[in-house]
Amino acid sequence: MAYKITSQCISCNLCETVCPVGAIKIIDGKHSIDPDLCTNCVDSVYSVPQCQAGCPTCNGCVKQPNDYWESWFDTYNSIVKNLKKEPDYWETWFNSYSQKYSEQLQKINSK
Ligand code: SF4
Ligand code: SF4
Repeated sequence: MAYKITSQCISCNLCETVCPVGAIKIIDGKHSIDPDLCTNCVDSVYSVPQCQAGCPTCNGCVKQPNDYWESWFDTYNSIVKNLKKEPDYWETWFNSYSQKYSEQLQKINSK
């Protein structure tokens, strides 16, 4: 888990409404992040973790220190997952790249 709600939380409830995966739970009136659901907002439309970005306190929601290799494998698994979603990713990339490259070569050769 990379993010955690701390004792500075004032229970404004903003993070619960913005979390893209519903990882923020309220148990006995206290907010907490379900580590099995939290994705660190990776693979979402957001570029920053929404709970931390919107929290009105200084340290109500903080990033936990992460083991280097855990972080490395998180990134690796995320990339592999995306590639599996698009099995023809590299073929599409190559076709697009080679077409643009050919167009540029033609322009240069026609001068
Ligand atoms: S980092 Fe993103 S996914 Fe994780 S709890 Fe915060 S808003 Fe939800
Ligand atoms: S946004 Fe911050 S203060 Fe508000 S409920 Fe979430 S952690 Fe607590």
